[in-house]
Amino acid sequence: MVSIEIRPLDYAKSFEQLTEKEKMYSYYLNKACWAGIPISLFQISYESPALFVIFQSFFSSFEDSNKIEEEILKNKDISQNDYDLFILYVVNFYSYYGNYYSFGHSKVMPRLSIDKFELILKQSSKYESFSEIWNIIKNLIYKPSMLLPKTSSKYTSEDIVGTYYLNGITLDEIKKIDNILIKKNISLVNTRLQKIDENEYEILIGSIEEKEEKLTVEDENISITLKYGDFKDYLIKMNSFLEKAKLYASNDTEKKMIDLYIEHFLTGDIEKHKESQRIWIKDISPVVEFNLGWIETYIDTEGVRSYYEGIVALQNKDSSVKYKILVDNVDYFISQLPWDKIFEKDKFITPDFTALDIVGFPTTSLFVGINLPNYLDIHDTDGFKNLSLLNAYGSFDENYLKKIISEKDVELEQKIGARVSMFKTALHELLGHGTGKLFKIDKDGKYNFDIDNTINPLTNEKIKSFYLPEETYESKFSTFCRALEEGRADYTALYLVFDKKAQKIFGFNEDEYEDVIYIMWLIHFIGGIIGIGYYENQKWENPYSQERFIFTNYIFQNQEFGKEILTFNVDDINGSFKIVINKQNLIKYGKNIAGKILMTIHIAKCIGDVKSAEKFVEQYQHVDEYLLYLYEMTPISNRIKKEMHIDLIMEEIDGKQIIKMNEYPSTPIGFIKSVVDRFKCDYNEITFKQWTKYYNPFKNSK
Ligand SMILES: [Zn+2]
Repeated sequence: MVSIEIRPLDYAKSFEQLTEKEKMYSYYLNKACWAGIPISLFQISYESPALFVIFQSFFSSFEDSNKIEEEILKNKDISQNDYDLFILYVVNFYSYYGNYYSFGHSKVMPRLSIDKFELILKQSSKYESFSEIWNIIKNLIYKPSMLLPKTSSKYTSEDIVGTYYLNGITLDEIKKIDNILIKKNISLVNTRLQKIDENEYEILIGSIEEKEEKLTVEDENISITLKYGDFKDYLIKMNSFLEKAKLYASNDTEKKMIDLYIEHFLTGDIEKHKESQRIWIKDISPVVEFNLGWIETYIDTEGVRSYYEGIVALQNKDSSVKYKILVDNVDYFISQLPWDKIFEKDKFITPDFTALDIVGFPTTSLFVGINLPNYLDIHDTDGFKNLSLLNAYGSFDENYLKKIISEKDVELEQKIGARVSMFKTALHELLGHGTGKLFKIDKDGKYNFDIDNTINPLTNEKIKSFYLPEETYESKFSTFCRALEEGRADYTALYLVFDKKAQKIFGFNEDEYEDVIYIMWLIHFIGGIIGIGYYENQKWENPYSQERFIFTNYIFQNQEFGKEILTFNVDDINGSFKIVINKQNLIKYGKNIAGKILMTIHIAKCIGDVKSAEKFVEQYQHVDEYLLYLYEMTPISNRIKKEMHIDLIMEEIDGKQIIKMNEYPSTPIGFIKSVVDRFKCDYNEITFKQWTKYYNPFKNSK
């Protein structure tokens, strides 16, 4: 049986440090961000909004949430196991805001029979109010299917389960219409595409204002109408909360930014959103950080339309101090890296990197770090922000770990794993991404390095390659630039973890020295093996898994007898294995070997040596039969950990408005109740209305 562990996303300490005004500001921003999350239900699948309506009605029909289990189990045809599996499904659904996870790679399937599912729903006094919707979607939630993200090579329009594309529009039509829109400079980010008739289409644009505009198209046979006002009711709510938040903004920059968001949601104009992002980048390390809108494109089959998400987070002052000390000592840390300082910038530019605690992160996939905005033109010219979300760091599932590492290692990981991961992220962002110089020649033929005397430490020869004026790192290393750069940053952490001063800054004591190194490497190896799931048709679908695997594979392939760091203890009979690290060897030889890998890719990046980098990546990214065999033995976890958001609520005490954290018990029912309460007022009516607006499923069923 699967057990569910609920972990509240704690931000109490950061919250206490806020002023009353900042608390009000966070309260309204949080409300605004959550108000939009039902939009993502529609983006994920046709049945998700209906499930939302059903669960909201179902759980709010019981007066006392502590007695739901008791009430349901009164019916003797429902077993404890049926009930537990039902709750598991609901918790999964509410944590992804939809019935798909991993960006559509997998569907959340109910593990109890359809009859039992229905019988449980019938225990609600409100069953009649949602039975019709249930009958429409019940077979769909049991149908195995995937969202099929853009990386999948073969899919047909029947495979599309989200509602970005409506009324049986074909893939060819989608491509044809999108091309026309792109040529007309119409952003696809906040749109959906609906077929009305042969050669007749509507572009649904997310906005409050409702209007229709006929698009002039060269091909006279095609009719395209821009229809504004999609998701209107949610956007109205968002804007009303943003208006209130604005009253508590601490400066004009924040007010201006909020105004642009409001205008964007009102008109659907993406330029306004882009403008808000330009200001956001310049608003460095605010105490209350936030961002919202149509953000990521992962779940769209075409990879061009975004899904809604929002975030409100508070600066974590303790960790920000640690980051600052790390940056203040950057000269020392750079001197510890395995290359000469001529491979570093003349002046270190601190990457914007803020340590935050999440208050609310309504999204379909919770990350521990985010890098925004995604608009490439802004990212490249105006810059971006890195947000490290500290309270999102959890440790691995203990029981899962027990199947792939020893009990002793599990214990240690549970003890220091989350702190080590945070430490790794800081080294990764600040000293990983932050370091390195690109060797260039400018338009006048001037080099920014000494071409006659600089020696490539890998070949002991003079530097032969560099960047031409029009070249960037991304353009030169195209297909593998992400994996290489994320690898460079991670390997910097795996190298600098051996530095006692760095460990001390992060609050580890001397007794922990070896353990910190051991756990950071172990977590990386685990990621390297589990991540093989992202290797398909000889290609990597995820740059992080790719670089973790490359490191793991390199270490595994290049071990000398007696100096082994990584081995696997394989039990062929039971089909299981354990990852084993030789701690002594790791402490003795690990730094050196990590330095070698790091040097290879760092120098390649600095001098734009694509050939060497490619050779290295190709040599180590290939998953051989043995490692694939191990991957196939990795167990499926039977314990799930879910993060529970703690909402802010307003209470009136002696005529004064007080903002408080609204805590619920850390149980599956506590988690469910927190979601149900969050969407108490009229979210159900709005969602039902929006759901029936375009599909109108009732039309056919009668
Ligand atoms: Zn990174």
